[in-house]
Amino acid sequence: KNIFEQMSFNKGRFELKSQVVHAVNGVTLEIKKGDTLALVGESGCGKSTLAKCIIGLHQPTSGKIFYGDQEIGNLTGRKRRPFQKRIQMIFQDPFSSLNPRKKVEDIVGRPMLLHGIAQKENLKKAVLDIMDRVGLDSTYASRYPHQFSGGQRQRIGIARALGCKPELVIGDEPISALDVSIQAQILNLLMDLQESMDLTYLFVSHDLSVVKHISSRVAVMYLGYIVELADTEDIFAKPNHPYTQLLFSAIPTLDTLDFVEAAGLAEGEVPTPINLPSGCPFHPRCVHKMPICSEKRPELREITPGRFSACHLNGKKQ
Ligand code: SF4
Ligand code: MG
Repeated sequence: KNIFEQMSFNKGRFELKSQVVHAVNGVTLEIKKGDTLALVGESGCGKSTLAKCIIGLHQPTSGKIFYGDQEIGNLTGRKRRPFQKRIQMIFQDPFSSLNPRKKVEDIVGRPMLLHGIAQKENLKKAVLDIMDRVGLDSTYASRYPHQFSGGQRQRIGIARALGCKPELVIGDEPISALDVSIQAQILNLLMDLQESMDLTYLFVSHDLSVVKHISSRVAVMYLGYIVELADTEDIFAKPNHPYTQLLFSAIPTLDTLDFVEAAGLAEGEVPTPINLPSGCPFHPRCVHKMPICSEKRPELREITPGRFSACHLNGKKQ
């Protein structure tokens, strides 16, 4: 079940032009142009769904999503197209996200044609250009996805996304399905491309070591709510929200994926968004809970400059 089918996406607002993103219940996230915001949380917290809502793979059943001043959550077909160009996604699984019957040049070239980045006459050159940028040899252009390794396939996915010259690139766990030995290569490639192409990233991940490496700001999501938002350095040095503290208490190595279990979070039932707890969504698992916590949902508030937390403790104690 999609989290946004259960929860109102009320004042959901997503905006890049003014470098402000509001997503999920009126929360404000900022992504500076050329910067990386990481969205972290356990599996099922809604981070992939949020990413898919932004690019239109999921339609919220209620509520709205804005990009700039334009509502995009309800756009389909032709009307959606300009935003498909401006916001591109790099998917987790490079095996299932590439059409096995298409040649690399067609996979990379099709969105460029569709969005008017290249014309038929100069398409081949444009395709080879972007392939070169992501480290794919020009002789690969006429091959098919199954002829490549996972890392190379992800490079194809990256070329397809970046060929459109997007304003915002959403990476949904873009390296977690790859062999550990090539995760760093792809991560470094993404960082190099960000620098050379002035790209803005929303990086969805549950791997905190990767997040620490790639992002300058971190938003922590729990059951569809942003519970903490802060600079990467600050949040790693001193997580504020009790959930963030729990999450960050067991920082995994690059190949340890399920850090939540490693952190001993298995105690008690993990609530589902379908059965959202009253008040603070984290209260059933929180060691600091107070009577108010099950009654009133804490708003995300700025507790120190640049750091936001949604907790009735308001940054006190701990
Ligand atoms: Fe814990 Fe209460 Fe803060 Fe929620 S609001 S994280 S239950 S202390
Ligand atoms: Mg996911």
